[in-house]
Amino acid sequence: MLDYSSYDEFREEIRAKADEIVAPHAAAIDAEDHIPDGVMKAVAQEGWFGATAPEAYGGLAWDTVRYSIMVEEVSRASGSVGVMLAVQGSLIVYPLQKYGTPEQVEHYMPGFASGEVLGSFALTEPGAGSDAGNTKTTAVLDGEEWVINGQKCFITNTKRDWPGICFATVRTDPDPSAGVRGVSSLVVPAETPGFNYGRKENKMGLHGSDTSEIFFEDCRVPKDSVLGELNEGFKLFMVALDAGRISIGAMAVGLGQAALDLAIKHAETRHQFGKPLGVQQAIQWKIAEMATKVRAARFLVYSAAARKDAGLPYTTEAAMAKYYAAEVGRLVASDAVQIHGGLGYDKSYPLERIYRDVKLDEIGEGTSEIQKIVIGRNLINLKRKT
Ligand SMILES: Cc1cc2nc3c(=O)[nH]c(=O)nc-3n(C[C@H](O)[C@H](O)[C@H](O)COP(=O)(O)OP(=O)(O)OC[C@H]3O[C@@H](n4cnc5c(N)ncnc54)[C@H](O)[C@@H]3O)c2cc1C
Repeated sequence: MLDYSSYDEFREEIRAKADEIVAPHAAAIDAEDHIPDGVMKAVAQEGWFGATAPEAYGGLAWDTVRYSIMVEEVSRASGSVGVMLAVQGSLIVYPLQKYGTPEQVEHYMPGFASGEVLGSFALTEPGAGSDAGNTKTTAVLDGEEWVINGQKCFITNTKRDWPGICFATVRTDPDPSAGVRGVSSLVVPAETPGFNYGRKENKMGLHGSDTSEIFFEDCRVPKDSVLGELNEGFKLFMVALDAGRISIGAMAVGLGQAALDLAIKHAETRHQFGKPLGVQQAIQWKIAEMATKVRAARFLVYSAAARKDAGLPYTTEAAMAKYYAAEVGRLVASDAVQIHGGLGYDKSYPLERIYRDVKLDEIGEGTSEIQKIVIGRNLINLKRKT
């Protein structure tokens, strides 16, 4: 049994750093819909873009529990910066390390680890959301190059003022009956001719974390740009999403904790009817429920992370962690707004930003409904004889 208290000192260090280099910019990132270079560089300086990357390529080689704590604490400071690190660590560095050829790892890992390059993970298309295998983007081999055509949407880490490399699912087997077994994963640098960012999605929250359409128009990449095996790209993306769900859970815990911290402070300092709000049992109960849920969500996230680190199956646990933490994050943010009354509804106060930001965690990397399908299917063995 993992003793999570052994990570307390580590958490304190990350929290202090996140409070210093991220939190002071969170309101401006939200208002201006932009993460400034200074924040990007300060985060890079800490090595957080490459938290899980091997040391040989400039990474910190942290285990998944440490990485989750980092995503949690950064998200507590700013959900927008937190989600950027969640994507980079889980959906880019992890599959590159697991499936990349030695040449691909050598070539791409240092840029991702240092934060000089942002990785995006392009699965979703207009007709392929929850039904993620319904990929219509195609890649056709022409001599020594793949020619890609199609469209992706809602893709995170598409920061136009920062070098980017996209991992994209593309249909490489033209036979429609191949289904998800005809889908490969290609590595496409954003500066490749024919790779074009479309509309930047006009989001409710997580401003500053750029989410965009991508259009591939006769976009040519070398034949050896396939990540993993040819026609095994959908599976690779699903494996990456298992890891991603741990970090989205961590993000939700961090945002939930931020809301809880504000609610406790408000209960201590706001006086009504001649006494602090926190004297009222109704408020105490609400805080008690919020704190208990955040703690339970945190342990679900760490336990999925610890299973991954131990080499145990963790698909079900990661889906549980994401589903539960995202729901808790939303509920706790809502209760914190309620405890703040009118202030909670005021845009000059951080709670409404947290409330908007955490909602994404119930949608991105598979909605809560899809997480419950994953959990249910893994628990119910339909082939088992009764
Ligand atoms: C801010 C943001 C960032 C994102 N970043 C990325 C990214 O980096 N890369 C990427 O590839 N994608 C990204 N996405 C896309 C995200 O993964 C999808 O939005 C999500 O998977 C849901 O797909 P959809 O929006 O098409 O909704 P739909 O699939 O149309 O679903 C609509 C509703 O129907 C429900 N539903 C669908 N199918 C079922 C079913 N079988 N049973 C029960 N309910 C069902 C869903 O749960 C949901 O409530 C991002 C989205 C957002 C909002």
